[in-house]
Amino acid sequence: MRLYFTLFSCCFHFGLLQAQDDITTDELKGHITYLTADKNSGRYPGGKINKRVVNYIKKDFKKSGISSFLKSYKQPFTAPLRVKKGDKPKEAVKTWNVIGYIEGNDPILKNEFVVLGAHYDHLGMGGGPSSKSDKIDIHHGADDNASGTSALLEIGEKLMAHRTELKRSVLLVAFGAEEQGLLGSKYFADNPGVPLSQIKLMINMDMVGRLNDAKQVYMGGAGTFPGGVELMKDLGPPLGLSPVVHAGSVGGSDHVSFYKKNISVLGIHTGGHPQYHTPEDTVDLINFEGQKRVCQYIFNAIMKVGSTPYDMKFIPQGD
Ligand SMILES: [Zn+2]
Repeated sequence: MRLYFTLFSCCFHFGLLQAQDDITTDELKGHITYLTADKNSGRYPGGKINKRVVNYIKKDFKKSGISSFLKSYKQPFTAPLRVKKGDKPKEAVKTWNVIGYIEGNDPILKNEFVVLGAHYDHLGMGGGPSSKSDKIDIHHGADDNASGTSALLEIGEKLMAHRTELKRSVLLVAFGAEEQGLLGSKYFADNPGVPLSQIKLMINMDMVGRLNDAKQVYMGGAGTFPGGVELMKDLGPPLGLSPVVHAGSVGGSDHVSFYKKNISVLGIHTGGHPQYHTPEDTVDLINFEGQKRVCQYIFNAIMKVGSTPYDMKFIPQGD
C-alpha cells in the first residue's frame, strides 16, 4: 500500500512539473479574463483596484516559485496622471511596478540580467488624452496590455521550470503607469537595484494577443545587440511564425526607457487594430493559440541569450 502510494505521489508530482512547464491557452485566457474583468475597471493607476491587480501579479510570481528581487515584489512610485489639454489637473497617485527574480547559475554570468517586461496598467474609464474613443466606459485593455502581462506570468513560470539551464539572471517586471507616459519603466530604469551596466537586454511585450493570419510578430530594436536581427528571424519558422524584425525602430513603449540608458532592447508586439485604446479591446478578440506561440518564441529568445555565453553589447541605432 505504501509503495503504491509513493508511486502514485511520484506520478502526481511529475504531472505537476509537466503542467508548470507548459504555456497553455487556458492559463493565458485565465489571466486575461481576470485582468480585464469589469471589477478591475480598466486598470487605472492608483487606489484599491490597482492594489488588487498588483497583488494578483505578485501572487502568481510566488505561486511559480519566482523570488522577489528588491525588499519586496512591489516597487512603489508616484505617478502624475495625464489629463486632456485644458482639463483640470489630477492629483498624482501612488502606484507600483511588480518585480520577480530568477537567479542564473553561472558564477560570473549570473551577475548579468535579462529583463522581461510588460505594462499591466490601462486607461481606466477612458476620457484621457490617449483614449481613441469619446466613450466613458471600461477600457478593458485585453490586448493592451493584459496580453503582455499574462505572457510575462506564463513565460516566467516556464523559465522557472528551466532555471537550472539559465546562466544569466532574469528579472520579470510588470510596469505600472505606462499609459501615463512610460512612468513605471522610467522609474525602474532610474532605480533598478543593480548597476545598469549589468542589464544586458530588455525585452518588452506590449500588445501580443492579436497574432494575424500571416503569423507576423513585429519587433524593433533587434539591431541593438550582436546578431539580434538574425537570431529573431531564425527563431520564427520552427514555431510557424513570420517575424518582422527591425534593427532600429525603438519606440512606443517601456523598452524606450531602457534604450535611453544604452541598454539593448527588443520591443515585441502583434500589430495594431481598430479596438486600440477603445472600450472594445476585449478578451473575445484575443488569439490565444497565436499568443501561446509568441510566448514560446520569446521564451526561446531568452534561453538563447540567458542559457549561453551569448556575446551581449549595446549597439546604438540611428532611427
Ligand atoms: Zn496602450
